[in-house]
Amino acid sequence: MKGAAGSPVASVVRQERLARVRAAMAAQGVDALLLSLGADLPWLVGYTAMPLERLTMLVVPLDAEPTLVIPRLEAARVDHDPALFALRPWTELENPVAITAGLIGGRSRLAIADRCWATFLVGLQRELPSATWTVASAVTGPLRAAKDAAEIDALAAAGAAADRVAAQLHAGEIPLVGRTEAEVSNDISRRLIAEGHDVVNFAIVAAGENAASPHHHPGPRVIRAGEVVLTDFGGTMNGYCSDITRCVHTGPVPAELAEVYGVLHEAQAAGVAAGVVGSACQDVDRAARRIIDAAGYGAAFIHRTGHGIGMEEHEDPYMVEGNTTPLAPGHAYSVEPGIYLEGRFGFRLEDIVVATRTGPRAMNAARHELVVVEA
Ligand code: ZN
Ligand code: ZN
Ligand code: ZN
Repeated sequence: MKGAAGSPVASVVRQERLARVRAAMAAQGVDALLLSLGADLPWLVGYTAMPLERLTMLVVPLDAEPTLVIPRLEAARVDHDPALFALRPWTELENPVAITAGLIGGRSRLAIADRCWATFLVGLQRELPSATWTVASAVTGPLRAAKDAAEIDALAAAGAAADRVAAQLHAGEIPLVGRTEAEVSNDISRRLIAEGHDVVNFAIVAAGENAASPHHHPGPRVIRAGEVVLTDFGGTMNGYCSDITRCVHTGPVPAELAEVYGVLHEAQAAGVAAGVVGSACQDVDRAARRIIDAAGYGAAFIHRTGHGIGMEEHEDPYMVEGNTTPLAPGHAYSVEPGIYLEGRFGFRLEDIVVATRTGPRAMNAARHELVVVEA
């Protein structure tokens, strides 16, 4: 694929991102930034490295032109912007680690891609014994977390596409009773593509007691009448991710489940409302958790309230106790509290939200109630 999964980002935007990266490097005392696997590379230059044994590495010196070290046979995949970076294709008989070390030269304070494979990092550490190392996200994380207008539009489009699949679920257009979780997961995946996603990243379907396992892998369990079906699905559309969780009930809802869901629904709404620019990320978590704690289900809410989202499903900033980062305009993240009663049932409710100067803006508008689906 050329470019970042079909998202043509203007050259001027990339130049501006590079300038902000350099400013962050200078502020943190980083002499060279090394990008490989992960979303930092496509965010900066529009190219996604192949996750294979051959090294792809963009070397961004603080004081010189960036160079993309790339396997010769993959060079044609690069939509090369010579104004932004140089290309250094390497042949099968060359050593890409030595080439990378040569481009780094005498620079010794290095930041390397969080997802770069250990085999390359260890090789570089051998070549550059006096270098000190940090992770690239220390430089890029805060920059990528604050989305620009085009990125927010892309998140909104992906969210609307996921909403259309949720609406089909609510309308009973996705048969549930008598099918396995895996079958429903495949059905949801097909619909995500039909609604415009380029890739499906996951489609969790968890029935009954399985809904109490937050990252349940959909399997052969057959969905029955009169139980919870938790669905959590998302994909990538024009380079940006969707992620939504909705629960339905295959028949009339027993009083206990209605009560637990009511608590969760209120907690999720409070978490969304807490997304005010200037307040801390942990305040979003606290707002949701307070309501679940007060209802006596605190021990059943076993994960943080949310994660940042953008080119990756999970990225900065995280909505978790201890994260005092202030919310800034353009921060995009999930609000997804859950209540999990092991061996019995579970609920989670998730929307993507963007912090704006006029308050939190939801990327999802699908119904939030526990909808009864008789299909
Ligand atoms: Zn998750
Ligand atoms: Zn999710
Ligand atoms: Zn999520």
